[in-house]
Amino acid sequence: MNPSLPADYHTHNRLCRHAGGDPIDYARAAIERGISEIACTDHIPFPNDPTPSIRMTREDFDLYVGNVRAAQAAGGCTVLLGIEADYQRDLVSAHIQSVLDLADFDLVLGSLHTGPFWDLAPGDPAATPEFVEQMNRTYYLRMAELADTRLYDVCSHFDIVKRTGIRAPEALLAEIVPPALDAVAAAGMAIEINTSGLNHGAAEFYPAPRILAWMHERGIPITFGSDSHNPGQIGQHFEQAVALARAAGYTHRAQYRRRKMTLVPF
Ligand SMILES: [Zn+2]
Ligand SMILES: [Zn+2]
Repeated sequence: MNPSLPADYHTHNRLCRHAGGDPIDYARAAIERGISEIACTDHIPFPNDPTPSIRMTREDFDLYVGNVRAAQAAGGCTVLLGIEADYQRDLVSAHIQSVLDLADFDLVLGSLHTGPFWDLAPGDPAATPEFVEQMNRTYYLRMAELADTRLYDVCSHFDIVKRTGIRAPEALLAEIVPPALDAVAAAGMAIEINTSGLNHGAAEFYPAPRILAWMHERGIPITFGSDSHNPGQIGQHFEQAVALARAAGYTHRAQYRRRKMTLVPF
């Protein structure tokens, strides 16, 4: 047990249909892990959901909020009501805003899950240098669009375009990532250090250390998130994430209450 670990601001639960456990199970696991604060951040319901197997339905939403409130009432661990509100171009901002209006959220994660990066693995003949360049250019343009909507508090797994281990050349990243970071900074958003990347083909956190340095130069606050899909993953790799954040110059993290951010030491 490490009593000094920071809050875990990215957790799922069984209602998103691809994870296990209820919010209270994550809160209990957090206490065991030495983490005193978590955010529940299930995926936002979609209208006419094209992938109903990976997110809660609109009908489940009230149950979700009730389960989070039950975990809050249990005490011992501070539990925030959050949501991972996937940015998709074909979902107009009005839909996302309509869900955000349904409850008194503490924080809203913005993330991108759609694109060829999701399953395009190294060695695939489709992964030509030209395709990888275009995939990365499109991804970071969408990230800037996400920030420009002003709907979100925290950018999740900022460079997940590298998920399967296909990386863009450093020179290209130096051209296309800073404008996306400028958009995030202009929106007053934080970016999470998402530790789940260590379990993926990327084999490193989201974002990469170089991007973390660019964030620090811009004064973009950080949060820590495990992206837990079962309670045993709460705070996964957090010791390493804290060390990385300190190496980049960070001493504080963003803390949220009812979508108001303050900086606290970690
Ligand atoms: Zn996500
Ligand atoms: Zn997630």
